[in-house]
Amino acid sequence: MRPDTLPQQIDPPVLQLCQKLNEAGERAWVVGGCVRDLLRGMQVQDWDIATSATPQKVQQVFRRVIPTGIDHGTVTVLWKGEAYEVTTLRGDGVYSDGRRPDQVEFVEDIQLDLARRDFTVNAIAYDPLTAHLVDPFGGLEDMKRKLLRAVGEPSLRFQEDGLRILRGARFAATLEFELEEATEAAFRGALPVYRKVSPERVREEWLKAMKARAPSRAFEVMKRTGILEVTLPELLEQVGCEQNRWHAYDVWDHTMHVLDSSEGGAIERVAAVLHDIAKPRTRAHSDKTGDWTFYHHEKLGADMADRWLRDYRFSNSERELIVDMVRHHLVCYDSSWSDAAVRRFIKRVGQDRVEPLLRLAHADALGKGRDVREELAALEELRGRIDEAVAEGSALSTQDLVVNGKDVIAELQGGPGPVVGEVLRHLLERVLDDPSLNKREKLLPLVRELAPAFEARRNKNEPDVR
Ligand code: ATP
Ligand code: MG
Repeated sequence: MRPDTLPQQIDPPVLQLCQKLNEAGERAWVVGGCVRDLLRGMQVQDWDIATSATPQKVQQVFRRVIPTGIDHGTVTVLWKGEAYEVTTLRGDGVYSDGRRPDQVEFVEDIQLDLARRDFTVNAIAYDPLTAHLVDPFGGLEDMKRKLLRAVGEPSLRFQEDGLRILRGARFAATLEFELEEATEAAFRGALPVYRKVSPERVREEWLKAMKARAPSRAFEVMKRTGILEVTLPELLEQVGCEQNRWHAYDVWDHTMHVLDSSEGGAIERVAAVLHDIAKPRTRAHSDKTGDWTFYHHEKLGADMADRWLRDYRFSNSERELIVDMVRHHLVCYDSSWSDAAVRRFIKRVGQDRVEPLLRLAHADALGKGRDVREELAALEELRGRIDEAVAEGSALSTQDLVVNGKDVIAELQGGPGPVVGEVLRHLLERVLDDPSLNKREKLLPLVRELAPAFEARRNKNEPDVR
């Protein structure tokens, strides 16, 4: 950690922005997460600036200002092609609901502004004009010792805003810091306020935690402090849930290893957390093998994941990807698969799901904690065969067929209806077996041949309402 290198690390536009406020008779500091990250030698994406200027004054000093959170003293200054959050120094009033302060007081003093922040390492300010560091709570010392410590009395601070304990778990993972003892001890008492935190904010923290090298650090904190009991109690059922002889770990430790081994982005890492969510509920003893089985845990798991992801406001596309990954995570490939079986696999999971699934399967194998070299080699072989199947251009979904719904309708007597999709799906099955059939002169006669049978089915399923 090199506080003396700070002056060179401040982006020139940030320095100029602070200078402009200074020329207007105000003071300005870079503050919070960006100072913390500079001190750790990390690249800073979001510069947060604290200033003595009121939001109105900031609007006078700069030409392009968006009043993003003006009630809380925050405006966004568009400056030299970038957006900067500039917040008037504030102390927070009372938090009666554990979520947002009831009123915001603008204050004169940077120390009071720092006092409202959550952890000491997030409560350091730096004045780039005087090169002066303001560190009233020993944030620098805590950074050296890799300690995450609440600013002030932890239990009081966590009562003000229940999200802070989840941020604490997240920072334990992303910064790879230990929680200071009294800080962690206060987590449990804050669970009633944590319960009130909106699901959107919880989701956001989860996704940020997934950027850690080992996100399991956040989950271990959540597990031992009670946060997980509030947010995803089903995951705790995995603790101590022994698995079959192929696994070295119980389901919880397995899940944590899979999570840390996952090489996908944040959303794929959520899928890693959820992939075995239903194992404890489906575990049964097999008399035949004398070992544990988890029949259909992937199906039940997909349903459980779907419900949880809806509750926590994941977007439709995020939810659909995760649920598909949970549903199809058992990739039981071996070299005896025919090419048609490889094509059927792609069709079943969807071509856009193949890469995320193979990444999850890879992490899932590593999470067994045994020698899985053969399993990994098989997955690589499958990847190669999938690439070949795709490169060959064979049809892998009904959209890839050379005939479409219109063609089918033209061949049927009864016009449009669900039967059209059925015919196309049937054609796809045939083409998956034999890609050479995907030619109009082969498929159209096939439709003609199939039409009577499908029409008969239509008449049975769809009573004539005319
Ligand atoms: P990151 O940007 O990596 O999420 P950060 O620490 O910068 O981490 P932000 O949400 O960007 O977090 O907030 C900027 C600063 O605002 C924090 O460093 C902290 O000083 C303060 N802060 C943010 N959220 C809270 C909170 N819930 N309670 C108290 N202070 C907070
Ligand atoms: Mg930030």
